[in-house]
Amino acid sequence: MGLNPFEVAKKQIDIVAKEMGLDPNLTKYLKRVERALIVSIPVVMDDGTLEIYEGYRVHHSTVRGPGKGGIRYSPEVNLDEVKALAIWMTWKCSLLNLPLGGAKGGVCVDPRKLSKRELERLTRRYTSEIINIIGPDIDIPAPDVNTNAQIMSWIMDVYSMQKGRSVPGVVTGKPVEIGGSVGREPATGMGLYYMLEAMCEKLNFNLKSQTIVIQGFGNVGGTIADLLFKEGCKVIAVSDISGGLLYSDGLEIDKLLEWTRQGNTLKDYNDERYKFITNSELLTTECDILIPAALENVITQNNASNLKCKIILEGANGPVTPEADKILYDKGIHVVPDILANGGGVCVSYFEYVQDIRAYFWELDRINKELKKIMLKAFEEVYELSKERKIQLRTAAYIIAVSRIAKAIELRGIFP
Ligand code: GLU
Repeated sequence: MGLNPFEVAKKQIDIVAKEMGLDPNLTKYLKRVERALIVSIPVVMDDGTLEIYEGYRVHHSTVRGPGKGGIRYSPEVNLDEVKALAIWMTWKCSLLNLPLGGAKGGVCVDPRKLSKRELERLTRRYTSEIINIIGPDIDIPAPDVNTNAQIMSWIMDVYSMQKGRSVPGVVTGKPVEIGGSVGREPATGMGLYYMLEAMCEKLNFNLKSQTIVIQGFGNVGGTIADLLFKEGCKVIAVSDISGGLLYSDGLEIDKLLEWTRQGNTLKDYNDERYKFITNSELLTTECDILIPAALENVITQNNASNLKCKIILEGANGPVTPEADKILYDKGIHVVPDILANGGGVCVSYFEYVQDIRAYFWELDRINKELKKIMLKAFEEVYELSKERKIQLRTAAYIIAVSRIAKAIELRGIFP
């Protein structure tokens, strides 16, 4: 895709700094990450050869609490991408008013090419390499693109073995059997659903009569597709890495999920009613609601003017570039920004962390109620500010998030 997400993240800071008249010293400060660790991860492969992978863990800001953010495994991962993702976590946690900072990790690897044992060795060694900068009081990783509850279990095990006791609070997104939280896996999708409902209510749209297109069919895209389908909404197109399927009468999401959960891709799905489309065709498909739930920088100045939707709900982190954002605003498309829209994941991660520390676990009902409460509060704050100042939802969300960080820095002062 060519665009550097770290440059995008810094540009977003400039835009909001200008809008809110932020002290230039703070602007300079916020564009830097607190620390970035680059590690080499040697892995003995099943055939006896040695492969060395590169991994990262970045803390952008821990001024409001320990670092928080996922770990992604992807051949596209690099230091600048992880820095950008850490910055976005800072804003996300701040916007939801969670007592957590922003962090992110990643390993440059295509996990689909590894066996399960290789994946486990990679994860255990990566954990051991970053062990000094993670921990319940320091930085708490979680799943992200291509990582899951099993990977979190291995991370927790390595950390616990080093400490000589079980430390479930070192990661979130674990299986419930070892201190995970009920409701964590579908949480990002649940949060997206609450935000979409709230946005439709403001615009007087009836959600059930909207046509919906979703890019990405993993944990985030798959869950929101499933929720919308079960609510009787019309999801007309979805895509995964292999491409997308389009059917204007509405896809049978339950069957597609069954298919992809068996390890298949959408491209190989057989239903003569469905038209196979590319990922770029999917984004410009005519619809009411577009949910990019895959990777960053997919809506750019090259395709933004061709989009034919009314609402964009950002399931992914950083799917829209600042240049595209301007085009979308001029076209009158409402963008529910990533740091608000997809905050459900980290919100329930926070609940998991709290439950682990207290060793007292909540029922699903309480999780979903508290998730909805936190997200709707943030939504109302963002929506009100955007109306009051006649600015995009993203700028409003950033103003709220950055103000809280700026206040914390001001109160604590700069050491020494
Ligand atoms: N990876 C998710 C995100 O980007 C969740 C992070 C977390 O739960 O810490 O928000």
